[in-house]
Amino acid sequence: MKKNKKKYKIAILPGDGIGPEVMKETYKIIKIVKEKFLINLKTKEYDIGGVAIDKHGIALPKKTLNGCKNSDAILLGSIGGPKWDKLSSKKRPETSALLSIRKYFKFFINFRPANLYKKLYYLSPLKKNISKKGFNILCIRELIGGIYFGKPSKEIKNKKEHYALDTSIYKKKEIVKIAKIAFKTALKRKRKITSIDKANVLKTSKLWRKTVNEVSKNYPTVKISHLYFDNAIMQIIKNPSQFDVILCPNLIGDVISDECGILTGSIGMLPSASLNSKKFGLYEPAGGSAPDIKGKNIANPIAQILSFSMLLKYSLKLNHISKLINLSVKKTLMKGFKTFDLSDGKKFITTKQMGNEISKSLIEEYKNEKNIISKNI
Ligand code: NAD
Repeated sequence: MKKNKKKYKIAILPGDGIGPEVMKETYKIIKIVKEKFLINLKTKEYDIGGVAIDKHGIALPKKTLNGCKNSDAILLGSIGGPKWDKLSSKKRPETSALLSIRKYFKFFINFRPANLYKKLYYLSPLKKNISKKGFNILCIRELIGGIYFGKPSKEIKNKKEHYALDTSIYKKKEIVKIAKIAFKTALKRKRKITSIDKANVLKTSKLWRKTVNEVSKNYPTVKISHLYFDNAIMQIIKNPSQFDVILCPNLIGDVISDECGILTGSIGMLPSASLNSKKFGLYEPAGGSAPDIKGKNIANPIAQILSFSMLLKYSLKLNHISKLINLSVKKTLMKGFKTFDLSDGKKFITTKQMGNEISKSLIEEYKNEKNIISKNI
């Protein structure tokens, strides 16, 4: 294999709950990428989330932020857990670390692929006649605008009343930015975008729809359509194979991407990428820290491994190796290997075994490549 002379640095943030367990399996894949595919990857670990609160008194320590700044990409496990749930929302690991890191690096793009291979249709909770068609959806969610970041957001208690309020706000330029990303991405796929909003009720959604339509004029070969949020939820369950790229504002995207995800079988298989305009990114499983299964060696490491694969594709431009990792995961699943979440609860393999099987499969792919190259010489 020809040596790629570039040097890459990845900041690794295992975090809380099952984060460190699934990251351990991803290190096996990183090792193969370094040693077999000869990629000069340097990894360094930093604390984030609850574990950082315990050690340093803060969920996103300066050292972690600096480590991320000095890297080519960030690979995150997951954050949070019951131990820190009682903290104020400002201090809670998810809000203080995750939302801050998104805002700091201006990660306005969130890619969440949800892919059900036809041959693996039985993993989906959908009826067989629907799941047999398979689907390949890419949810693109705007990540640093809308109601999650709008100010004011507070709880007010006075003599007369006790209430809480959040503010949903979108600037036109924020919508233009994410819409352009969606159209450019769709050009490389089936050229079909479904934008989801609540334009029958919300002003921000009205502006969202109008702006997406304006941007669409510059991409005449991409078919754009719109669905209201409530209807979209139903259509996705009824016939997911009709969708290609789904474009959503922040809160709607949070829900829709989880829905698309679970239809593939388990949240434990879903990766995500959060990127800024320079394609610097944070890659993490779509699920959380799963405290209910922490330390049991039953977590599914696929979401974490596929997040690393997305990192190779989007931030390091190592698309070919990324594809081979995806293929290794697919082949491992097709051999019938299932972690607890994908199983009937009786026959399943452990987190570690799944990591080993995917590693074996990736080494097979590497050997196949090597054979093809030597045959052609
Ligand atoms: P969760 O995603 O952690 O768990 C939901 C369900 O999915 C659980 O039954 C869990 O066991 C299962 N699950 C999740 N990942 C899995 C995997 N890899 N393999 C097998 N099963 C898996 O959501 P939750 O229970 O609502 O949240 C738990 C904690 O995680 C909370 O503190 C929450 O705030 C935090 N959280 C963090 C992130 C993040 O780090 N980005 C995202 C969501 C939630």
